Amino acid sequence: MSAGHGDWDAVVCGAGVAGLATARALDLLGLRVLVLEKQRAPAPIAKGEVLQPSSLDVLERWQVLPRLAERGAVPLERLMVRDGAGRRLMLFDYLALPGAHRGLLALDYPLILAALRESLRDRVEVWPGALVEAAVPAGGRLSGVRVRHGGRVRELTAPLLVAADGRSSRLRAAAGIEARPVAYPHRLLSLELADVPEQAPEVTSYLTDQGLRLAYPLPGHRLRLYAQVPPDALRGADPAQLRGWASGLLDGTPALRPLAEQVRAGLGSRQLLGLWRYRVARLAVPGLALTGEAAHCVHPMAAQGMNTAIADAAALADCLAEQGFADRPSAAAADRALLAYHGRRRSWVRHIDLMSHDATLMVTRPSWTGRLIGRQLLRRIDRNPRLRFQATYNLAGLGIRPFTALDRLHQLGLPDPRAGRVPAWT
Ligand SMILES: Cc1cc2nc3c(=O)[nH]c(=O)nc-3n(C[C@H](O)[C@H](O)[C@H](O)COP(=O)(O)OP(=O)(O)OC[C@H]3O[C@@H](n4cnc5c(N)ncnc54)[C@H](O)[C@@H]3O)c2cc1C
Repeated sequence: MSAGHGDWDAVVCGAGVAGLATARALDLLGLRVLVLEKQRAPAPIAKGEVLQPSSLDVLERWQVLPRLAERGAVPLERLMVRDGAGRRLMLFDYLALPGAHRGLLALDYPLILAALRESLRDRVEVWPGALVEAAVPAGGRLSGVRVRHGGRVRELTAPLLVAADGRSSRLRAAAGIEARPVAYPHRLLSLELADVPEQAPEVTSYLTDQGLRLAYPLPGHRLRLYAQVPPDALRGADPAQLRGWASGLLDGTPALRPLAEQVRAGLGSRQLLGLWRYRVARLAVPGLALTGEAAHCVHPMAAQGMNTAIADAAALADCLAEQGFADRPSAAAADRALLAYHGRRRSWVRHIDLMSHDATLMVTRPSWTGRLIGRQLLRRIDRNPRLRFQATYNLAGLGIRPFTALDRLHQLGLPDPRAGRVPAWT
């Protein structure tokens, strides 16, 4: 084993969105950053494709936005919840939001990663094929990592380590932080549809008797379609069973029938994805920050995971700048910043977790009564512009404004005298 030379102010483990966003944020502080990524190239997995306005603000500051546009990112104006026939249940109207970015952006996850990576300057190095095996403690804190790279194992030290190594984070485990994932009682089948005629600029959630179907356009006349399926459905299904399943999907979602041909052709692109929920109790320990899915995981239906990872990275950089780490990257400054980072992000992560879970329950409950209640609640929010604005504001990542107990009563049918007004706090 050879030792590192302390060439880095920060070592970031993982080059998913959390790792690359963290690298970009630290890059802009003028820090020397090393990113270690076990894969040689990003896996073509369908995830993290919809960016919220709060992320667009950050990505604009980081000069990443033009690189997303170059890659054909699709601007979207709303998130619309519909029934299977396409009738409106609830509109999340992003055009009504305050701020510079009143919309969403959809792009393939590997292309978002490529845009982030391309934005990194010379002081940031990315090592693909570098597996982080363990964290190295020294002086009561974590001060380095053991990494296997290019047939060698070496120890690299830095005043700041970042665990951006995803759901089964080794660094999280090394820090003694537990995640305790809880699985959702369904999976998502992901299909990529090609040659799709022009679509409305929206993310559409279709609530059907068979569960949620989520669709949004991607560049190049493609459409991402997710379908909620029972946990054991379609495992090892043969082509005839898959075609039968697709016919059932189209019968249950008449709004998708014009795309029947594309759905059948898209079966070859299917991926079956398990879904979990967790958030850690501590977002940092001395020497180490957790960002992205190393720290929290939510159901994808509300499109929050990648956005929370980007916000983690921005908040960590702010804390480091405030504690003088950018001017003098010492262990002491890092640890002060890590404490501040935990304090600043904790309530956000909790808010995102509760909001995503609530939204998920509303649209994925399989029972007849669960579906009925979910639809009722959505219709009531839709009829109340104030609550509709508030729900969109939360999803967009612009602030923490959960529904109060009184709001919940309005959602259940109590008349709301303030329904027509935009909330005063905007
Ligand atoms: C179906 C689906 C759809 C989604 N859609 C959205 C969406 O529209 N919007 C949204 O905001 N979020 C969405 N999400 C969530 C989003 O994809 C995740 O929150 C985000 O990808 C997490 O990024 P990450 O960098 O933390 O983890 P990852 O993307 O998993 O990256 C972790 C990286 O660390 C590397 N790594 C792991 N262990 C090691 C090691 N020991 N050494 C070195 N490298 C290591 C991995 O190879 C990987 O590249 C979706 C998720 C799913 C499953």
